[in-house]
Amino acid sequence: MSEIGHFIDGRKVAGQSGRRASIFNPATGAKTGEVALASKAEVDAVVARAQAAQPAWGATPPAKRAQVMFRFRDLLNRHIDELAPLLSAEHGKTLSDAKGEIARGIEVVEFVCGIPQLLKGEYSEQVATGVDSFAIRQPLGVVAGITPFNFPAMVPLWMYPVSIACGNAFILKPSERDPSVVMRIAELLHEAGLPPGVFSVVNGDKEAVDALLDHPGIDAVSFVGSTTIGQYIYSRGTAAGKRVQALCGAKNHMVIMPDADMDQAVDALMGAGYGSAGERCMAISVAVPVGEGTADRLIEKLEPRIRSLNVAPYTDSASDMGPVISREALERIKGYIAEGEAAGARLVVDGRDLRLQGYEDGYFLGGCLFDSVTTDMSIYRNEIFGPVVSVVRAEAYEDAVRMINEHEYGNGTAIFTRDGDTARDFFSRVRIGMVGVNVPIPVPVAYHSFGGWKRSLFGDHHIHGMEGVRFNTRLKTMTTRWPSGIREGAVFNFHAGS
Ligand code: NAD
Repeated sequence: MSEIGHFIDGRKVAGQSGRRASIFNPATGAKTGEVALASKAEVDAVVARAQAAQPAWGATPPAKRAQVMFRFRDLLNRHIDELAPLLSAEHGKTLSDAKGEIARGIEVVEFVCGIPQLLKGEYSEQVATGVDSFAIRQPLGVVAGITPFNFPAMVPLWMYPVSIACGNAFILKPSERDPSVVMRIAELLHEAGLPPGVFSVVNGDKEAVDALLDHPGIDAVSFVGSTTIGQYIYSRGTAAGKRVQALCGAKNHMVIMPDADMDQAVDALMGAGYGSAGERCMAISVAVPVGEGTADRLIEKLEPRIRSLNVAPYTDSASDMGPVISREALERIKGYIAEGEAAGARLVVDGRDLRLQGYEDGYFLGGCLFDSVTTDMSIYRNEIFGPVVSVVRAEAYEDAVRMINEHEYGNGTAIFTRDGDTARDFFSRVRIGMVGVNVPIPVPVAYHSFGGWKRSLFGDHHIHGMEGVRFNTRLKTMTTRWPSGIREGAVFNFHAGS
């Protein structure tokens, strides 16, 4: 049984509040540990520590801050085989998927190894006679991050390396469902030479989150999670005068044009719809084949692939996907499947009767596929966040574009086609933050920025890349004029003829 407290002042400490949450292994349903839930007083103490540590860190030359990131990157790479099982045991995803998410997180650390270059300012000589102007970016102070269960290593890594490299102190409040991996990564960051107090992990629930949102010592909040909570975080945080970015829920459509390579599209949909049991904010949960013939070919190829998915715990190296995160999540997803059936969608593959010998109490669900879904159904409108793909048949390309643009979410989308003109038109007109062309999960690399539109993002900045640097810094401009006089009056040189 693991006992997880907080990470403060460069070391692990026990929680003081007396409140705890249970942690489960989703593959077995067994309780594996407990995590402390911080009180407001504990949050106040962490913020005070961060405030004390930040000025010296903010004044440290960016090139020295980058040195910590170089060492951190090296340590993460060396420990990836230790970190992945820690992550999978609490989340349930396959080991290769866990390693993949850590690798994507490491890319952000690599990006901020170049922080001196990223923080370079702008300078204009002679904006008026004898007047120069320049602009620099300075750290905000103390930034808080609140993160979801589905990428317990990568999503925090989207945030704190950028924020810390920019010179801020950072307080992370991870998901209470799978906090172990981040606690170990915090140790590695300190082994890399980060001064105590600059990065803290405070575990908790609503009480800790609210304390962070209201605390006058917190300058900005990065949130990733569901839309209901994200909108709440955005309202409460901005009302308290903070800068807030809240990256939220999604319903990502994949359009399959009649000219698409169907084998490629089906391969892509299998990974994007069922990988990580559909628990990705960039998962494809709606397939939109254009034309009846395209739809029939899609279903025909997809159905046997879903039936042959290897659903198994992460300890099985041949597993395609693991369990979902919790018993409540399993029940919620099954509830949506029942609603879809009742609304008249055709359940082509029903994963609900999957039984795994030896794992009867695990939160497993087989892949599910609905055909003939319509846009008024709850399985279309809501984010299910499980291994369920809905096929909505579109008569024409324009119907597909309209459907996507009218959906309340705008995180990611993809189109599969061989036609450049269609792809270009789609990219130009679709009201979505991240678009793939023959790429099902168009997650931007670390030196670009990640973020959705509409109700998938509250706030102005996307995350990591230059948007992350802007979010974590404040712009300051200076205009200078120097009085003349000393240069003329003083004799610094030999006068001609002397
Ligand atoms: P969640 O919203 O339940 O939890 C996210 C965080 O908010 C957690 O740290 C949690 O402790 C905290 N929280 C939960 N309830 C709270 C409350 N009432 N008050 C204050 N804080 C609260 O999300 P989740 O279930 O952990 O993650 C899944 C969701 O995250 C999905 O909707 C998914 O689409 C979204 N997500 C979005 C992105 C993105 O980049 N847009 C990335 C990953 C996940």
